[in-house]
Amino acid sequence: MPLSPDQQAEIDDLRANPQPTLRAVSPGMEQHLYKAHDVLDHGFIRVIDYMGDDNAITQAARVSYGKGTKSVSNDEGLIRYLMRHWHSTPFEMCEIKLHVKLPVFVARQWIRHRTANVNEYSARYSILDREFYIPAPEHLAAQSVVNNQGRGEALQGEEAARVLEFLKSDSNRAYDHYQQMISQDDQQGLARELARMNLPANIYTQWYWKVDLHNLFHFLRLRADAHAQYEIRVYADAICEVVKDWVPFAYAAFEDYRMGGANLSGKAIDCLKRMLAGEDVTQETSGMSKGEWREFEGIVR
Ligand SMILES: Cc1cc2nc3c(=O)[nH]c(=O)nc-3n(C[C@H](O)[C@H](O)[C@H](O)COP(=O)(O)OP(=O)(O)OC[C@H]3O[C@@H](n4cnc5c(N)ncnc54)[C@H](O)[C@@H]3O)c2cc1C
Repeated sequence: MPLSPDQQAEIDDLRANPQPTLRAVSPGMEQHLYKAHDVLDHGFIRVIDYMGDDNAITQAARVSYGKGTKSVSNDEGLIRYLMRHWHSTPFEMCEIKLHVKLPVFVARQWIRHRTANVNEYSARYSILDREFYIPAPEHLAAQSVVNNQGRGEALQGEEAARVLEFLKSDSNRAYDHYQQMISQDDQQGLARELARMNLPANIYTQWYWKVDLHNLFHFLRLRADAHAQYEIRVYADAICEVVKDWVPFAYAAFEDYRMGGANLSGKAIDCLKRMLAGEDVTQETSGMSKGEWREFEGIVR
């Protein structure tokens, strides 16, 4: 179960007691505050707090651009301009604080994003719950034959059943031993900070993660991308849904320029110009490597 009854009661209580504020609020984000959005089999993301909205981005930008107009259509245009030209500091004026519950192997990828503030559940102090990520059958995929860092079709039949059984029984056996080691019944009990080393990387951890919108977009561009591992991508997808409601103009610009757009090298732009002029450009005449050409074709064809 992603949320404990105590956590759910806390959320219900927080949502039942709104406070008046003079701060800018994003109506879309208010709908998400405190609520948990389920991810994977036991995980979730939930917004603990946020600062700013679309308006905070344009306000900050206008410090450098002067007063200008304040009409809504121009706010959207300005945000698109800032995104298009990598004028990133105005996006740093917005912040989000999330509570995330995620498997440890996903946390290892996530923590590589250094431009955030993190506080993780302490397994030195507390006892971890018996909660392990076990992939749904359709996500129990074979090693990809074309991409060393990817997966192929889902495993089938007896192999799928055997792998699932390994994952479940190994997780449970490791947890049984963890419990037995820390137990103080008739023994001293191993320190929790040592006993945890026996636990597998599919056990769940939790953290608070605070990041500004510029760095969040960077995270989302990398982790909501089709090349990201499924298990972190679903967290990024869930965050995208929240950000879409929080800062609709900024998110639309991000979707268009970053998620939907592409970077082209000088050689690629040259090829594109030659193709538009009617030339039948091939990989051999492009000046690009096979890999570059394959990626270029993926963009333009
Ligand atoms: C598909 C995919 C595969 C990956 N595979 C691997 C892998 O095999 N092995 C592996 O180790 N990692 C891997 N990574 C992690 C990747 O290399 C980055 O560490 C991770 O994506 C975080 O990106 P970042 O450093 O840009 O983000 P952040 O740490 O949030 O930094 C954001 C930006 O701030 C700047 N910055 C932050 N800190 C510094 C600094 N100390 N010095 C200079 N500039 C800084 C950089 O411009 C950086 O882009 C992979 C990531 C992805 C998305």
